[in-house]
Amino acid sequence: MSRTSTASSVLVIGAGVIGHACALALQRRGCDVVMTDPDQAGSAASWGNAGHIATEQAQPLASPATLRSAPGRLYAFGGPLSLRDPLSIAPWVWRYLRACRPHTYERGRVALRGLLAQALPAWRHLAQTLEQPQLLRETGHWVCWESAGAAARGRAGWDGSDTGDTRFQTLADGDLGALRAASSAPIHSGIAFSGTAQIADPRRLAAALQARFLADGGERRYDRIERLRSDGGGLVASTAEGETLRAQRVLVCAGVRSRALMASLGIHAPLVAERGYHLQWAEHRWPDLPPVVFEDRSMIVTRFEGGLRAAGFVEYAHADSPPDPGKWRRLRLHVAELGLPVRGAHSRWFGARPTLPDYLPAMGRSARVPGLHYAFGHQHLGLTLAAISGELLARSMSGESDGTELAAFDLDRFGG
Ligand SMILES: Cc1cc2nc3c(=O)[nH]c(=O)nc-3n(C[C@H](O)[C@H](O)[C@H](O)COP(=O)(O)OP(=O)(O)OC[C@H]3O[C@@H](n4cnc5c(N)ncnc54)[C@H](O)[C@@H]3O)c2cc1C
Repeated sequence: MSRTSTASSVLVIGAGVIGHACALALQRRGCDVVMTDPDQAGSAASWGNAGHIATEQAQPLASPATLRSAPGRLYAFGGPLSLRDPLSIAPWVWRYLRACRPHTYERGRVALRGLLAQALPAWRHLAQTLEQPQLLRETGHWVCWESAGAAARGRAGWDGSDTGDTRFQTLADGDLGALRAASSAPIHSGIAFSGTAQIADPRRLAAALQARFLADGGERRYDRIERLRSDGGGLVASTAEGETLRAQRVLVCAGVRSRALMASLGIHAPLVAERGYHLQWAEHRWPDLPPVVFEDRSMIVTRFEGGLRAAGFVEYAHADSPPDPGKWRRLRLHVAELGLPVRGAHSRWFGARPTLPDYLPAMGRSARVPGLHYAFGHQHLGLTLAAISGELLARSMSGESDGTELAAFDLDRFGG
C-alpha cells in the first residue's frame, strides 16, 4: 500500500457487501482502491443473510414498541431472542434503553426512513453497474400467519407501522393457495408487500461484486488488519502477519469487528454481535415465490438460485462465542412443522449482524483522526442499505457532499 498510496487511494478494510459497495462507488469517482479481508470462504453475514431488500423496515428496532414486546419474543418461550453473554453486553443494553426514548427513536426513524427511500434506486443502479440487473428481483415479499389470532395481531401491527415507501395488501387467494400447496403449513392468511425486493443469489452477488472491483482496477488482499495507527500524513494498518500497509485514507467496513479496529485508534464504536442462523437445502421443490416471512415463527424463507434458505434468530453474544446448535435444531423443527418441501442434506451457517445501540448505521469521516472513514453497524439492514451506503460514503469522501446527508449517522453521536 505504501508504494501506491496517493491522494486518490483508499484502503478499504472488510470485503463484505458494505465494503464492496463503498469500493465500487469510490472507483467510479476515480479512486485507487485496495480492499483487504481474510475471508475467502464467503462466511460473512453479507452472504449468509436472507437476501431480502427490506425497505419496509423503517422503524429502528431501538423503539418503545420493540422493548415492550421483548419478553414475549424470548427464545425460552419459543421466540427468536436470546442473550448468550448478558453481562458482556450490559453497557450496550444501557445505551439501547436510552435510544428507545420516544424522541431519540423518532429522530432515528426519520433518518432511517430517508435512507431506505433511496435504497432500492441505489440497488437498481448497482445491479446495472455489475451488468447483472436480474440479480435484483423486485418481487416484493410476503408475510403470513398460521392462526386467526396471530393474523389479527400481526395485521394490526403492520397497519400501525411506518413501512417507508412500501405498500402492502391482503395476500390474494391465488397466492395464498400457492403457499398452502407448496407446504403442509396451516397458513391462515397473509399480506403481500410491494416496493421490497430480493437478491437472486448471495454467491452470485459476491462473485459479481468482486469481478467488477477487479475489472475496475481494484487490488484485493487477504490480510486481516490487527490494528490501525495514525502516522503524520496518513494511517498505518498492521496485518496479522506483521506487515504494515500505509494509506492516506482508510475506510473501515469490517462489520462487527470494526469495534476493535476503531478502538485501536482510541475511538469507541459500541457495536454488538447480533447473531442469526440459517439452514439451506440445495434440493427442494419450493416454487418461485418471493421471500416469505412466517411471522409466528420469526423465520424467513428465501428461494435462491443455489437453494432454499430458512433464516432467523436474534442472539446477542460475544462475536467469538461458539454457535448454539439448538438454534439450528429449532429452525429444522420449524421447517418440518411447516412441511417445506426440502430433500437431502442441508448446510448450516451462523453469523453476526453488526449492531449499534440505536439500530442506525455509523457512516462518515472521523473528526479526530485525519484520513479515517467508516461504514458499519447496518444491523438487520446491511444488504438493503449496501448500495446507498456506498454511494453516500463515496460522495462524502470525494467532496461531492458537505457531509450533512450523513450527519445522523456520525459515530460521535455516542459521545466518543
Ligand atoms: C440471519 C441473518 C439474516 C439477515 N438477513 C438480512 C436481509 O434479508 N436483508 C438485509 O438487508 N440484511 C440482512 N441481514 C443483515 C446483513 O447481513 C448485515 O447487516 C450485513 O451483512 C453487514 O454487512 P457488512 O459488510 O457491514 O459486514 P459483514 O458482512 O460482517 O462483512 C465484514 C467483513 O469484514 C471482514 N473483516 C472483519 N475484521 C477484519 C479485519 N480485522 N481485517 C480485514 N477484514 C476484516 C470480515 O471477514 C467480513 O468479510 C441478516 C443478517 C443475519 C445474521
